[in-house]
Amino acid sequence: MLEKILRRFTSGSRYIRDNHQLWYTIAVAVVIFSSFFFVVNKFASIAEDSAERLINVRIGSLQDAFVAFAGDDTSSPLLLQEKIERIAENNTTIKEFDVIKFVSDELVIFASLNKEQVGAIAELNPIILGIVESDPTSSFTLEEREGNERFFRTARAIVNGESEITGIVITRQTLSEADKQIDTALRNGLFAFGLIVLVLIFLFFRFARIIDYATLYRRLKEIDQLKDDFIAMASHELRSPLATIRGYVELIRDFKNLNEEQTEYARRVELSAANLNDLVADMLDVSRITQGRMKFEYTDFNIGDVVSEVAESFRHIAEKKNIEVTTEGLEEIVLHLDKSKVHRVLVNLVSNAVKYTPKGTVTISYKLVKEYVEIRVSDTGIGISKEDQEKLFEKFYRVKSTETEDIAGTGLGLWLSREIIRKQKGDIDVESIKGVGTHFVVMLPVIRK
Ligand code: ADP
Repeated sequence: MLEKILRRFTSGSRYIRDNHQLWYTIAVAVVIFSSFFFVVNKFASIAEDSAERLINVRIGSLQDAFVAFAGDDTSSPLLLQEKIERIAENNTTIKEFDVIKFVSDELVIFASLNKEQVGAIAELNPIILGIVESDPTSSFTLEEREGNERFFRTARAIVNGESEITGIVITRQTLSEADKQIDTALRNGLFAFGLIVLVLIFLFFRFARIIDYATLYRRLKEIDQLKDDFIAMASHELRSPLATIRGYVELIRDFKNLNEEQTEYARRVELSAANLNDLVADMLDVSRITQGRMKFEYTDFNIGDVVSEVAESFRHIAEKKNIEVTTEGLEEIVLHLDKSKVHRVLVNLVSNAVKYTPKGTVTISYKLVKEYVEIRVSDTGIGISKEDQEKLFEKFYRVKSTETEDIAGTGLGLWLSREIIRKQKGDIDVESIKGVGTHFVVMLPVIRK
């Protein structure tokens, strides 16, 4: 168990050490904790101070009033006794109340809540006596402690009509009630503090997870960048050996004395080299697009012409598979876009339609829809499931099924098509039912000069 805790602690501290952002969070958490703790304490001591000051003021005024009455020489001890008992009855915090008078240089207790003391000689703390005599017009308070209970002992001189000190009034008040209230306030404050700590810890962990995701995201971006760099470099390097292979195969095919078998081998090498060439071209385009280097040359052209050209170029291959290629659309719709790029996208879509259709028809249609031309490449082929449709336009995505396993491809064509179309302010989407057929819909803006 201890070992487990220790292991967790070590991995936790290693995690904190490796993630510098966490230091910032910890620093913020520490600052918040300590400032809150400081504020709670400050608040408690201010509350304590003002409660004590209030008690002092109250007892001071009470003594002021009492002293005015007790200074009158006609006030009898009985009357004073009655008065202090009534005061103590109304102020339950007053635990002692003595009226002491000078009788021929002696301090005699005239009236007291402790009736047994009345008539006795008072044993007064000389410090209190000194202070009271030095300032006969104010009350003076000393704090006393008995166990956990605090008391205020307050004294004030009794002065007669000739401003002579004739005695002293002393009270002792408990502070337990005020202390209890402050304790409760402090406990509530600390409880709130505990809650805040818990919330902060919770936020802290959530933040740590966000940092995790952020780090992961950064690493993924780095890896993606590495992959893009690799694609750019590899496709660039593949270009010249491929050109050499294609050149030599062409030369071999021109030989007059090749037998049938040799001619077939040369044809296969030529076909594979052509496929590889297409792949390299696609990969170069991927890196051109991701690095923002793809150039677009805008010209005016009729979309109907491009559709006819593309349909014508596939008719021969399609016929071999018993597929009919047709076109629909009569209007002349002029676009101001990069003609060769639009041509290229349509070639990719029609080539896919022919590739993934065992038999039936492939139709390229176009019509005006508001400010766009809608070009539809429809087939009666194998179709694409809903799940595959969602990922279809991702880089390198290919549908994996028994119907597609023998069909060659890179999974780059649709990604490239979408990028090229979007760069020209258009869009491309797919509608398909598995086993029935597929429509690729390209929208291109018409008014663009
Ligand atoms: P590929 O080089 O593999 O054809 P694409 O990006 O052009 O790459 O297409 C991605 C995948 O989408 C293909 O592998 C194929 O499974 C599916 N696909 C594309 N067009 C069609 C279509 N007309 N009918 C059925 N599936 C298609």
